[in-house]
Amino acid sequence: MDSYSAHTTIYGYVDSITKYPDVRHAGDVARFAPPLLPFRIMLHCTGSIAAVLALWMGDLSPLLDRRFPEPSVQFLVMDANTRDVIESRWPRPEEPVPVGSLVKPFLALACSGGYPEFDCKGSQSGCWLARGHGHLGLSHALAFSCNAYFLNLARHVEREALAATTAKFDIPAPVRETAQARIGLRDGWPIAPLALMRAYTQLASRRGDPRVAPILAGLALAARSGSASAIGNGALAKTGTAPDSGYTLVLDPADAPRIALLVRVRGHTGSETARTAARILSTIRTGR
Ligand SMILES: [Zn+2]
Repeated sequence: MDSYSAHTTIYGYVDSITKYPDVRHAGDVARFAPPLLPFRIMLHCTGSIAAVLALWMGDLSPLLDRRFPEPSVQFLVMDANTRDVIESRWPRPEEPVPVGSLVKPFLALACSGGYPEFDCKGSQSGCWLARGHGHLGLSHALAFSCNAYFLNLARHVEREALAATTAKFDIPAPVRETAQARIGLRDGWPIAPLALMRAYTQLASRRGDPRVAPILAGLALAARSGSASAIGNGALAKTGTAPDSGYTLVLDPADAPRIALLVRVRGHTGSETARTAARILSTIRTGR
């Protein structure tokens, strides 16, 4: 049994305790249910299992506080199945903010027909990578966050189709009708961090949808060797660079995400933020 399986099993056990009907979080159960304490201590002695359980029990909070005290670093951790927030260092996470390229998967889903291929010629195509990404399809365009690919795609998406897609994922549509806003440039498509995380967990839950599969493949490639390569193999990830902050969203593990992590670092790019996200993810996975 891997650590997340153990964690989910244990969470199910804790959650099934119905004699504490007003208690919704495992951490609260731990405080109000003394019979669980020996169980909790035992699990703290079993390495990675304890690490993830500790997150639920609230014990990881002080460690995360100590390791990531910088006010410029904000993060949210969510249970990918229940979509409950487990950890929050994010004032007003329901307040919409520009999230850069984190919008790109939802723009892609609004495109009709098959996903196009495109030749990115760099600056002259409007891409941030001056030398260009060359010929690429959707998965690679997502993994390397090619702006030229998505600017081209954005120009061919109907406004009604984009509105239908955003409604399905319960996120707002762009506030400006420009291709730049549709790919997350500047501040034309603000989304609340909580809503964005829930949209990504919903995306991951639709892996059987043939239109979603290439998107998830792109997010896996982003974590493995793309713009979020600091995260590494085994997770899904996407970076975004907004005017004042970098963002990285991680779904872990890749094949059946149990947690979603969103990290924002003020003054950084998305790829730089991925390095901080990797450290936070490691702390959650290992308890160190
Ligand atoms: Zn490009």
